[in-house]
Amino acid sequence: MKAVQYRSLGSAPEVVTVPDPEPGPGEILLEVVAAGVCHSDIAVMSMSAEQLPFPLPLTLGHEGAGRIAALGAGVAGVEVGEMMAVYGPWGCGLCRQCAHGQENYCLRAAELGIFPPGLGAPGAMAEYMIVDDIRHLVPLRGLDPVQNVSLTDAGLTPYHAISLSLPKLVPGSTTVVIGAGGLGHVAIQLLRALTATRVIALDLSEERLELARRVGAHETLLSDEHAAARIKSLTGGEGAQVILDFVGAPPTTALAAAAAGVDSDITVVGLGGGTVAVGFGSLPYQTTVTSPYWGSRTELIEVLELAHHGAVDVHVETFGIDEAPLAYERLHAGTITGRAVIVPTS
Ligand code: NAD
Ligand code: ZN
Ligand code: ZN
Repeated sequence: MKAVQYRSLGSAPEVVTVPDPEPGPGEILLEVVAAGVCHSDIAVMSMSAEQLPFPLPLTLGHEGAGRIAALGAGVAGVEVGEMMAVYGPWGCGLCRQCAHGQENYCLRAAELGIFPPGLGAPGAMAEYMIVDDIRHLVPLRGLDPVQNVSLTDAGLTPYHAISLSLPKLVPGSTTVVIGAGGLGHVAIQLLRALTATRVIALDLSEERLELARRVGAHETLLSDEHAAARIKSLTGGEGAQVILDFVGAPPTTALAAAAAGVDSDITVVGLGGGTVAVGFGSLPYQTTVTSPYWGSRTELIEVLELAHHGAVDVHVETFGIDEAPLAYERLHAGTITGRAVIVPTS
């Protein structure tokens, strides 16, 4: 089968032919219908040998959806032909965090060498993929896999980040969304669907800001040296109650700190290497700073439920599997609007 692999340190992703996988006991074989392209893959492909936690080659793709093609020995509860989304942050299934469905915070995954598909285990950017357990599948129940595959990360990650701040997102509050890309444009929709907060979205280009307005941002601002002052002025001098940073680079974490109000939440989701200093006098009183990772299985079920209600609509640009390297190039160059999705069978 064809697969999109990151094969050696610092190289570009390549389309290669690999043996068709076969499901072992307890495993499920999915015929992949859609695989999302996430900026985290670019971060992974920029890691040094010391930073990279798994061996190469790696089949990319940590957002996956597909049709069950075969069941390994002993698998019960799902049927061949069912269309599923893949819950990506695989954990041990046994520890306290996993017991809560929070496999993204599994206490034993590192020790046991368990990796998410596309981030250590063979991923979804291939004609077929192996899912290790039925608990890592969520039925799509009629949702279009291409349109909704990115909810498994670009939806789930902002949903989890927003859930941490829900008590602060009351009428009259302001939320700043930095970066209206794959995750950010879904975050804006989730904020509008779940809360009464006013959303101010920031990005680098007018085109991104236009998408942000189209998906529900009340205000949009270019992310430049005037942005923090504009946010202060839009909030009557108070600053924002919640800042979601989907870039996480030094200029945006600095902006997040400058835009924060008293008793606010700064949530750094992006992997851009920026930090927010915490200490008396460095931030307004009682500002909370956190950097969450992905989301829980129950939250994925909830995000897909929102899609069923028509409350989230991912802005998708599709590519065939042979065009996957081009999709990564375009994501790197900043010319994807919304989310790029690979459709292996197109
Ligand atoms: P993306 O490239 O689709 O979107 C990033 C957006 O940020 C783009 O629209 C870009 O124009 C904008 N941007 C870049 N620099 C900016 C700046 N200085 N100010 C304002 N906007 C700026 O990327 P994505 O796939 O949505 O991922 C976003 C980030 O989240 C990445 O760093 C990714 O690695 C990370 N991520 C984290 C998790 C997690 O669990 N914490 C999960 C998924 C992705
Ligand atoms: Zn991702
Ligand atoms: Zn666990």
